[in-house]
Amino acid sequence: MPLYICTACGTQYPDSAKAPADCPICEEERQYVPPRGQTWTTLEALSQSHMNSFHEYDTGLIGISAGFAIGQRALLVRTEGGNILWDCVATLDAATVSMIKGLGGLKAIAISHPHFYTTMNEWAEAFDVPVHVHADDREWIMRQGPRIKLWDGETLRLTPDTTLIRGGGHFTGSSMLHWAGGASGRGIVCCSDTAYVATDCRHVTFMRSYPNYVPLPAERVKAIANALAPFAFEKMFGNFFESVIETGAKQAFSRSVERYLAAIASR
Ligand SMILES: [Zn+2]
Ligand SMILES: [Zn+2]
Repeated sequence: MPLYICTACGTQYPDSAKAPADCPICEEERQYVPPRGQTWTTLEALSQSHMNSFHEYDTGLIGISAGFAIGQRALLVRTEGGNILWDCVATLDAATVSMIKGLGGLKAIAISHPHFYTTMNEWAEAFDVPVHVHADDREWIMRQGPRIKLWDGETLRLTPDTTLIRGGGHFTGSSMLHWAGGASGRGIVCCSDTAYVATDCRHVTFMRSYPNYVPLPAERVKAIANALAPFAFEKMFGNFFESVIETGAKQAFSRSVERYLAAIASR
C-alpha cells in the first residue's frame, strides 16, 4: 500500500489504501491547509516530478532541496566525526543517495522540528542510521519507525564537535545544531525555525508560526538566547538556500534578540 506524502508540508504517512483524510501538521495553527485544498503524492511520484538541487556553502557544508512542499532545505554537515544530515526534505532521489554514499554516507540524521520530519524514515533506512528527534515533539511524529531515536533534555553531543541544542519556542522540542568545526573552526549554528534568518541575512526573528505570523512571547525568546549563549559561532544557517548570516552571526543574533524584545515590549 502507498505511503502518502502531504504536498503542502512534505510529511509522509503510514501505508494506507486511501490517502489520509487530513494532515494534522497542516491543520495545526503553525502551518496551513492551502486554499486549493489538501493533496497527496508518493515518493515514487516525487522521483518523477522533482529533482534535488545542491549548493556547497563552505567546504563540508552542502545544502539539499527540491523546492517541494514548504521548500525545506536539508544540510549535509561533513564533520571529522562523520557526516550528519541536519533536517530533512521529502525528496529522496537516487542521485542524492549516490552522492552522499560517495562522500562517506551518514553517521546520523538530526531534525530540528516536525516541519522537517518529512520522509525521515526513508532517509534513515537508505543510509542505515538513527534519526534524532526531540522527545518533547513526539506527538507530531506521523509515521513511526525503528530508527527514530528520541532525545531528552537541553543538549545532545552527536559527534566530537557537533551538538544538538534545544531552544524550544516554535515547538517545545525545537532544536538547533552547533558545529564547532564549521567556518574554519569559528563555529556555525543551523537554526532552522528555532531562530529564523531574516530576509536581510543580518538578523533573525522568532515565531510560533512563520506562515501565519504568530510571534513568540518574550520568555520563550530569552530561553532560546540562553540556550545558545555558551556556544561560539560565526555563521548561521536558516532553512532555505539563501538563509545565511555569513559573518558576525553571534553578534547579529544578540542584536536581533534585543530588537525583538523591544518590539514586543508593552508600552
Ligand atoms: Zn501537511
Ligand atoms: Zn517550522
